[in-house]
Amino acid sequence: MMLVKLLQPNLVLGGPVTLITPDMLEQYYLKGLILDVDETLVPWHHSEVSEQLSDWIEQLKNSPISLCLVSNNLSHERIGSIAKSLDLPYLLGAGKPSRRKLKKALEQMNVPASSVAMVGDRLFTDVLAGNRLGLFTILVEPMVEDNQTHKNWTHWVRNLEIRISRLIGVSFKPQHNFTQVDK
Ligand SMILES: [Mg+2]
Repeated sequence: MMLVKLLQPNLVLGGPVTLITPDMLEQYYLKGLILDVDETLVPWHHSEVSEQLSDWIEQLKNSPISLCLVSNNLSHERIGSIAKSLDLPYLLGAGKPSRRKLKKALEQMNVPASSVAMVGDRLFTDVLAGNRLGLFTILVEPMVEDNQTHKNWTHWVRNLEIRISRLIGVSFKPQHNFTQVDK
């Protein structure tokens, strides 16, 4: 498969993960989400989930959506406590873009790959791994701390990935851009 196709998200959200709604998942015939953790659900230096995030997870749990966390992070303490507070299954040390732990997640979720989306903030790990496995892929904006005045190195890497991908023809036009109406 051409590299551009492997890096092209099916959906560029243009905002944080919490903008994903059950209606949107239905629109794309999705029955399961594999969720990246660091900077997709929780900012880098945080280990506690926000109320907004746990409300969003609860909303999804009330819909027929199967959920699993798959992180490249090796910290059982960090990822385990986040998963526990959301009451979700999780897999660590995924080494995305490796497909291995994503396949394991699919087995646990018991949903066909064609109805599952890989959701993450990074192209060269989350989107690439999802596309390699033939999943629907959703690129989200990173979850950052409130009042964050400077961007850390992960944002620099993320922006570099986007610049490189744009050069080879990946499109980043947000299909769902939820600009706040009061802005
Ligand atoms: Mg991430």
